[in-house]
Amino acid sequence: MRLLLIEDEPDIAAHLRQRFEAQGYEVITATDGDDGLWHWREQDFDLVLLDLGLPGTDGLTLLRTRRAESDTTPVLILTARNAWQERVEGLQAGADDYLGKPFHFEELRARVTALLRRLGHSDDGQTLRAGDLTLYLDRREVEVDGHLHTLTAAEFALLRALMRRPGQVVDKLALLEAITDDPDARDTNMVEVYVRRLRKLIGPERIQTLRGQGYRLTETDNGR
Ligand code: CA
Repeated sequence: MRLLLIEDEPDIAAHLRQRFEAQGYEVITATDGDDGLWHWREQDFDLVLLDLGLPGTDGLTLLRTRRAESDTTPVLILTARNAWQERVEGLQAGADDYLGKPFHFEELRARVTALLRRLGHSDDGQTLRAGDLTLYLDRREVEVDGHLHTLTAAEFALLRALMRRPGQVVDKLALLEAITDDPDARDTNMVEVYVRRLRKLIGPERIQTLRGQGYRLTETDNGR
């Protein structure tokens, strides 16, 4: 499980990093908004912990920027305890949850775990579940109807992006960015090709096309 921690208070950043690493998380830290934005764009994270008051680009602008770029990484914002306007603005900008400062690590950890579980991550960080699909993150395999299929890197990246947001539309650009880091190699036809291949593996009904919008993983769970 990879976390991006964007926090300018060195003591808080060091403490959170150490505590999350002790729990088996991989933590990348950024101490200002611009550095945070760079990491967020360059790498794939399971969750972003975002302080709002940052030097350089502030947290809200950062969040709005990434959401406008179709990024759907779950975000938990850290705000001053009583700053309710900030919390509202943060949620409106696309944050998934928030926590007021100061907080105890255990409370943050519980929020992070709950958020990841809500989005289909298991507690062990090794699998992602949506309906009756299980994606094994450590070995690029998907289990469906009791059968395991090994995925190519691009199929895996695309399915993971859809499984992080089951039932929600993920647009083509976000899927394309999940597949390749190279802007020159980006061609939206790639998304169609990989969606077709994934449908063959997991069943055509599981990935819905919404014309002009993107794709959606349907939440089939066969009564389980
Ligand atoms: Ca701050």
